[in-house]
Amino acid sequence: MFKLPKMSYGYETLEPYIDARTMDVHYNGHHAGYVKNLNAVVERYPELAEKSLVWLLQNLNQFSEDIRVVVQNNGGGHYNHTFWWPQLKKNDGALPRGLLMEYIERGYHGFENFKQIFKQVALSRFGGGWAWAIYEQGKIIIYSTPNQDNPIMKGHLPFLGLDVWEHAYYLKYQNRRDLYIDNFWNVVNWDTVESRFLRVLEGKQPLEI
Ligand code: MN
Repeated sequence: MFKLPKMSYGYETLEPYIDARTMDVHYNGHHAGYVKNLNAVVERYPELAEKSLVWLLQNLNQFSEDIRVVVQNNGGGHYNHTFWWPQLKKNDGALPRGLLMEYIERGYHGFENFKQIFKQVALSRFGGGWAWAIYEQGKIIIYSTPNQDNPIMKGHLPFLGLDVWEHAYYLKYQNRRDLYIDNFWNVVNWDTVESRFLRVLEGKQPLEI
């Protein structure tokens, strides 16, 4: 059975950029719901329990429609949010460092431009979804996915993700997704992102789950 991971920090930690109420509802409402729905299908089809979540997401087309839809939406939701929480920490304006910064500068002519492209991608995702930065064949690529889809489902390796579902920002930002995205950069835990980047550079999964 899949488990809701423990939060390693308090809901208020990311204030004022992400408010405590949003964190609470997002974690205990949305994420817990994805885990519950995923486990309900695992209970009906115990063979699913023998596989990792990464494997399930990479092999969605092996399942019948009724299983596939539940695993794609709720397994995707569980993966994406397990990816999300450790990626957040108030950073006092810190920038990415090391190899990650080298690849950003080489591919995007600097962090400001990288952020701008990431923002355009995140803004143009219509409805619920995620913006991602992945590493593929020597470079960083930015794109978005709908619903709870993610790059793992395409065989890609993400190292940075942004939840742009309204549930991630609506209580504080209402329709201003742009402000939420701008403030996101104040709560990126670069330690997590950099260590994931080093893993995907070597072709490893950023998250084993
Ligand atoms: Mn979410």
